[in-house]
Amino acid sequence: MKGWRRQIHQHPELGFEEFSTSQLVAERLQEWGYEIHTGIAVTGVVGVLRWGDQPGLRLGLRADMDALPIQEATGLPWASQVAGKMHACGHDGHTAILLGVAETMARRHREQGLPGSGTLTLIFQPAEELGGGGGAQRMLEEGLFQRFPCDALFALHNFPGVPVGKLCFREGAFMASSDTAKLTFVGKGGHGALPQLSRDPTLPAAATVLALQSIVGRNVDPSLVSVISVGRMQAGTSANVIPNTAELELTIRTLDPEVRNTLERRIRTLAQSQAEAFDCQCDIDYQRGYPVLINDPAMTQLAVDTARAVFGDDHVEASTAPLTGSEDCAYFLEQVPGCYFLVGNGDNGHEAGARLGPCSLHNPHYDFNDDCMEAASTFLVKLISRYFEQSVQP
Ligand SMILES: [Zn+2]
Ligand SMILES: [Zn+2]
Repeated sequence: MKGWRRQIHQHPELGFEEFSTSQLVAERLQEWGYEIHTGIAVTGVVGVLRWGDQPGLRLGLRADMDALPIQEATGLPWASQVAGKMHACGHDGHTAILLGVAETMARRHREQGLPGSGTLTLIFQPAEELGGGGGAQRMLEEGLFQRFPCDALFALHNFPGVPVGKLCFREGAFMASSDTAKLTFVGKGGHGALPQLSRDPTLPAAATVLALQSIVGRNVDPSLVSVISVGRMQAGTSANVIPNTAELELTIRTLDPEVRNTLERRIRTLAQSQAEAFDCQCDIDYQRGYPVLINDPAMTQLAVDTARAVFGDDHVEASTAPLTGSEDCAYFLEQVPGCYFLVGNGDNGHEAGARLGPCSLHNPHYDFNDDCMEAASTFLVKLISRYFEQSVQP
């Protein structure tokens, strides 16, 4: 796993360009006897292992493969050999862990047989970092679960600052949805000295900036997380000119799918009514990004129980606080019950800047910690066994 991880790390590839990474994955899987499907969402790879004479349960495991447009600054011997690209989110490690699991499962299948009947589907997806849909959504559009039906799905992400060997879980909403909106207020420009001849779009834009916070404060249950931030406001070019248009761009996050709908509905209503109040119009371009990531209670319980049995209570956090980051595995978990969990990445990194603490993801000094691969792969192999053992119980 360490060898594959460092090989992938040296040759990072951005979303939908993971050609050499997916080739490495496909070649290994084929060598171990998996049925291989390539070119799903351009560079996605699916490996399938079937056993037994009954249909049995069908379990999916997912890893992401893409890197980021960051110039690596670790100076490590296995640092990126590609200028301006780097595995700064540890997807090199996620891919290597799933390959390790694949190799172990194939060997067990060959040497001792697997319990009952079943199908193990390994999903190596491209372009998690791209946003705006990402590789997971594209794989779904290309019929991923019609071609490879799954009854359950598990996936992981490394987490800096959590000790190596520790696993973190949470049932229900675990990561936030991430939406954006562009509001364009359209009025009628004119001379700044003759406002009566114009319809000034800066007024509804300014009023909307203030009114938006009333949505978080007045329309959403205070115990639920919701964030609306205006990241850009732009109007005009000169002090004595009333502009034709004024623009706002927002980012909108929440951990509840119903709150997500409320936020969109209220943002649209407020923007339109403010525009109307000031005799302007408002064009709204509302873009839904990654959905709320929701872990299935039963699958999370299975994962927590398995982790406790393998590593002991001290190494398992069963109700981790939710994160405001987002993750496109949420699309998969909308369709298949499952559990996305975190694996401790320890305190490594920030070699060049002492005492900065554990190196955060997407930092040029970050490196995936190879020491966490043993715990992660051991856990996944055990989880697979436990999942399929359920199906052979009377
Ligand atoms: Zn990332
Ligand atoms: Zn990531």
